[in-house]
Amino acid sequence: MKIICIGRNYTDHIAELDNERPEHPIIFMKPDTAILLKKQPFFIPDFSNDVHHEVEILIKISRVGKHIDRKFAHKYYNEIGLGIDFTARDLQQELKSKGLPWEKAKSFDGAAVIGDFIPKGTFKDLDKIGFSLKKNEEIVQKGNTSLMLWNIDALIEYVSKYFTLKIGDVIFTGTPSGVAKVNPNDRLSGFIEEKEIFSIKVK
Ligand code: ZN
Repeated sequence: MKIICIGRNYTDHIAELDNERPEHPIIFMKPDTAILLKKQPFFIPDFSNDVHHEVEILIKISRVGKHIDRKFAHKYYNEIGLGIDFTARDLQQELKSKGLPWEKAKSFDGAAVIGDFIPKGTFKDLDKIGFSLKKNEEIVQKGNTSLMLWNIDALIEYVSKYFTLKIGDVIFTGTPSGVAKVNPNDRLSGFIEEKEIFSIKVK
């Protein structure tokens, strides 16, 4: 399986990092070795002093597809999840300033938290899903899919122009504002609406 991530999909997060609003979705990937399942601790890697949490809605692909039109995109996924796109911000800034790819900052072991998935039929409107991240019982990130620049179906259309989507692939749909550094002993818990989807310890 592959993990496809979308960057800069929420205006409030674009503003907090002083990035430009993109003309098209920004895409990068993580390998399957980056997956951190919800019961495992996250170890801060020794090559970074500034690893940030980015909580994101996930889409699990349920059908093989390429060049998917947005009006048929809903047939290609059955489940919605939540995860964290851990980012070594110091390393990412250095790579960005040199115009280099971000992989070392985004795709290291453990950098993709994947929590539980929920059947999409549970939601009345996929364009109005609320989600949040708590750090040590305090809400640090709060988002809603209504605030995405490109919604789920638009992302599937765009991504599948470049990459064949396969069963089990996961799309990280971008983070809202509130990204911040994680420290040893932090506990990060992710929620879709009121339901806890993952809870991990930082070490
Ligand atoms: Zn992200």
